[in-house]
Amino acid sequence: MTVDLSRLPSVDRVLADEAGATLVTTHGRVPATDAVRAALADLRAARALADVAGVALIAGKRLTAEMAPSQRRMINLTGTVLHTNLGRAVLAEEAVRAAAEVLAAPSNLEYDVASGKRGERDDHVRGWLRKLTGAEDAVIVNNNAAAVVLVLNTLALGREVPVSRGELIEIGGAFRMPDIMARSGCRLVEIGTTNRTHARDYEGAVGPDTAMLMKVHPSNYAVVGFTNVVAEKEIAAIAHRHGLPFVNDLGSGQLVDLERWGLPHEPTVREAIADGADLVTFSGDKLLGGPQCGIVVGKRELVQKLAKNPLKRALRLDKGRLAALEATLRLYADPDRLAERLPTLRLLTRTAADIEAQARRVLPAVTSALTGHASVSVEPCRSQIGSGALPVDRLESHCLVLRPVATGKRAGGAVDRLASAFRALAVPVIGRIEDDSLRFDLRCLDDEAGFLAQLASLHVSEGAGG
Ligand SMILES: *Cc1c(COP(=O)(O)O)cnc(C)c1O
Repeated sequence: MTVDLSRLPSVDRVLADEAGATLVTTHGRVPATDAVRAALADLRAARALADVAGVALIAGKRLTAEMAPSQRRMINLTGTVLHTNLGRAVLAEEAVRAAAEVLAAPSNLEYDVASGKRGERDDHVRGWLRKLTGAEDAVIVNNNAAAVVLVLNTLALGREVPVSRGELIEIGGAFRMPDIMARSGCRLVEIGTTNRTHARDYEGAVGPDTAMLMKVHPSNYAVVGFTNVVAEKEIAAIAHRHGLPFVNDLGSGQLVDLERWGLPHEPTVREAIADGADLVTFSGDKLLGGPQCGIVVGKRELVQKLAKNPLKRALRLDKGRLAALEATLRLYADPDRLAERLPTLRLLTRTAADIEAQARRVLPAVTSALTGHASVSVEPCRSQIGSGALPVDRLESHCLVLRPVATGKRAGGAVDRLASAFRALAVPVIGRIEDDSLRFDLRCLDDEAGFLAQLASLHVSEGAGG
């Protein structure tokens, strides 16, 4: 059958029609024109016909997909509280408001209002960081990876940095200590062994080219068994005997002792400073619960050197994140209410009983939404903190376990189809696949009403035999 493509309407005719005009008012003339043109091109390529309304409909679908924001909110039921791929820490309301306020107007980012003179952007948080860590001074950059690069490049360019073989970490997103060292312009000197490093290894590595001693928090893994690590105090003493700075990359720098809330102990920045570190580097969006940034605190003289490195200009923070960080640090001034106000801590401190009660509450609705597709039960499980903090510790939690009921030919891939149905929701729900089941750890289910409301639009596909 031959199709007379000349019967397709022109771009102008589609746009002049009522449906076309609606596309223009909704999305603007340029995007609407482009979408109509693309819809007509698709029809021609497929040798298919459509009338004016039909073309507008196709163009409308294209526009809706194209204009949808690429980054959107998600429901994180993976059981990992600080999930790097899901954006790590969720900010406190106070932090979100503070960022929105300065993003929408000029601000005193680098302006001293009292004197009318130029100011320093890091001054907005320097005081808080000194107060909360006991350090003399602080500098803020894009993330902790940038903090480490800035420290190495400033203090050790062209020189040697001994690091224990047990601490030559790789963390997600291609952050590998040896590569970071090379790119920062310094020479890594590997000391000790994977499982045991001694004070004499540090002593033996110090030579005329040594720039500093460094300790790296072994995020994401633990060395267990026949092990030995040298205590911070001891490395600091060795460094200081040789007139060298001691730098501690804490990774997930915590500002308060988590034991206060019954959580496992993670070294605090204050402890690291008290144990003799001259500089401590840590992330803003891990346990601290703030925006993505990297923080270096420590001796004023060294921090001033970092601030003067031209790289600081390339790695500096924008006003929105600085405002969010400042607001987050202000919450730490009142530790009694911190667990209510800081989402990261609120989620980490939820009790297993509270999570179980929530699981039992949502169970009937989830069960009914999955009738014919999966059975649903509540089971105990263990959440992890994530982002390298306390990699071996787990927090008691509860999850919904969704087991597909498909049998025979349709059973293959049934769990994946279930997972993809939840990912296809307006606010995608992400769980974990384990033992042929989809598991939703409810520790991070903040928006319970939103989660339940979406179940009505859940559509699980039938698979091969269906
Ligand atoms: C997470 C981490 C980093 C990198 O921090 P980002 O904020 O992700 O750039 C560096 N060192 C250690 C020890 C870490 O745990």
